[in-house]
Amino acid sequence: MSAMLEVRDLHVAYGQVEAVRGVSFTLDEGHISSIIGPNGAGKTTLLASLMGLLPPARGEVLFDGVDVAKADVETRLDLGLCLVPEQRELFGDMSVLDNLVLGSYIRKPSSSQLRQLLDETYARFPRLAERRNQRADTLSGGERQMLALSRALMSRPRLLMLDEPSLGLAPLIVQSILAEIGHLRSAGLSVLLVEQNARAALRVSSEGHVIEGGSITHSGPSDQLMNDDQVRRAYLGGE
Ligand code: ATP
Repeated sequence: MSAMLEVRDLHVAYGQVEAVRGVSFTLDEGHISSIIGPNGAGKTTLLASLMGLLPPARGEVLFDGVDVAKADVETRLDLGLCLVPEQRELFGDMSVLDNLVLGSYIRKPSSSQLRQLLDETYARFPRLAERRNQRADTLSGGERQMLALSRALMSRPRLLMLDEPSLGLAPLIVQSILAEIGHLRSAGLSVLLVEQNARAALRVSSEGHVIEGGSITHSGPSDQLMNDDQVRRAYLGGE
């Protein structure tokens, strides 16, 4: 089986400064891969580039074998790529419901399909059902992350990319969001997860990649990375 996503020698620069330097990895359908690494390692830049928000200086991004490295965001959304950015980027002055409906826009669902997508969302996060008419900018941090994740799922993605979903959230909420990401995988979704919370990320992942200074320094099955002395010392608190 060929990989759903194959990144080959990807380079992304801000002017003269190269933030991603020759990154290569693959992600199989139905897998969760984590990208872990220190601040400024290039994780956000990598995801932004995979979504089409930043053009690569060179390299290939194969999605189902087709090179999308030069494709625009809308084309990638159509193909089933979707990014939940670190800042969540919700429409603050709109309701929870309207944010969700906007998430489905790219698929142009019929009203019964839209109903079904909303029912699935509310079953997944009952909190969002209770707050469907509330403005997004009045939600708590955890509720915002639930909404950002749900809005992305309304576009029926095949590959969901999440930038720091646990950022600023209480540990209990992090557990429930990551558990939900684990469930999505069993429903066939593939996930690329960027996380500072390396241990929690590796627990829900099939494999992981450590990125430092724009390059991947370690890759492997998650349990292998969790047992790697160097990775443990640097990213897992050495336990
Ligand atoms: P963090 O975990 O802190 O979010 P990160 O691994 O996501 O870090 P990036 O945000 O991708 O790292 O940043 C990688 C490098 O690119 C950093 O050195 C950063 O300063 C630089 N960088 C990021 N955005 C820009 C920009 N718009 N212009 C210039 N340099 C940038």
